[in-house]
Amino acid sequence: MSMVGAASAMAVLLVAMVAGNAQAQGDLSNPARIAGAVVGDSTKIIDLTYSFDASTIYWPTEGGFEHKFEKFGMQPGGYFYSSARFAAPEHGGTHMDAPLHFNRNGMSVDQVPMSYFVGPAVVIDFSAGSLNYPDATMTVEEIHAYERTHGEIPSGAIVVGRSGWGRFWPDKKHYLGSDKPGDVAHLHFPGFSPEAVKFLLTDRNVMALAIDTASLDPGNSKDFPVHRMWLGANRVGFENLANADKLPFSGATIFCIPMKIDKGTGAPARIFAVLP
Ligand SMILES: [Zn+2]
Repeated sequence: MSMVGAASAMAVLLVAMVAGNAQAQGDLSNPARIAGAVVGDSTKIIDLTYSFDASTIYWPTEGGFEHKFEKFGMQPGGYFYSSARFAAPEHGGTHMDAPLHFNRNGMSVDQVPMSYFVGPAVVIDFSAGSLNYPDATMTVEEIHAYERTHGEIPSGAIVVGRSGWGRFWPDKKHYLGSDKPGDVAHLHFPGFSPEAVKFLLTDRNVMALAIDTASLDPGNSKDFPVHRMWLGANRVGFENLANADKLPFSGATIFCIPMKIDKGTGAPARIFAVLP
C-alpha cells in the first residue's frame, strides 16, 4: 500500500473506531469532534508511546529490542533505499497484555475485538503514595476520590493508573528497581491493588487498564493477582505508558493499536490520546 493509501486508510479506521465507541456511549457528536481534532492538529494528540530502541525497558528475564539495517544507501539504479529487521519480546516497552498472558483460555492479541482498543480516558493519579514508597498501589478510596471530583467512571473507560513513574524512563535501575539481568527479586515500582481492580471489574464497566510502570501489579508482587484477575476476566492491559503526566483527568479518548500477532500473549503497541 502506498504511503498516501495507508494514511487515508488509517484516517478512515480512526473515524470508524471513534464512531463505534461514541455510539456506544450515546454521544453522536463525538465522531465529528474527535475526527476534527485528528485532522491537521498534532497539538490535540498526545503520544503515549516510548520509541523502541536499544534503551527500551524489558522484564529482567527478557532480552532487548533489536533493530538492524539490512540495506541503507544508494542503489545501482540511482535511488536511495533502506530496510531493516527487528526482533523483540512481546512484553516490554509500550505494549498491550492480551488475556492469554495469564489466562490459558483467554483471547490472544489477534482475537481481541477492536472495540477494546478505544475508550474514554479516566486518569487516576496515585503518585502521592509512591513518593516515599515505591511499592504503592492504587486503592479503592483513590478511585472513590476521583469519582467525587470527576464523576462516575464512564462505561467502556480505559482507566490509567498514574504513578508518576514515567519520570524515571529509561533509567532501568530507578524504573524497575534493579538493572541486573535476570534479577526479579529486587523489583520495586507502583501498581494497581487487587481490591481496586476488583471494584473496577465488578462495580464499573471498564474496558482496559493502563499504567505508567512496567506492570499492572506492583514490582514486589510475586504472584501477580491483578494480572490474574483482570486478564482472567478476558480484559486487556496497557503497560509502560509514556507521557501519562500530560493526560487530563477526564475528557480525552485513548487509542491503543497493538501489532496484530497471531497467538500473541501481548504486543508492542502505538498508544495515543486525542484531547477533548
Ligand atoms: Zn505485558
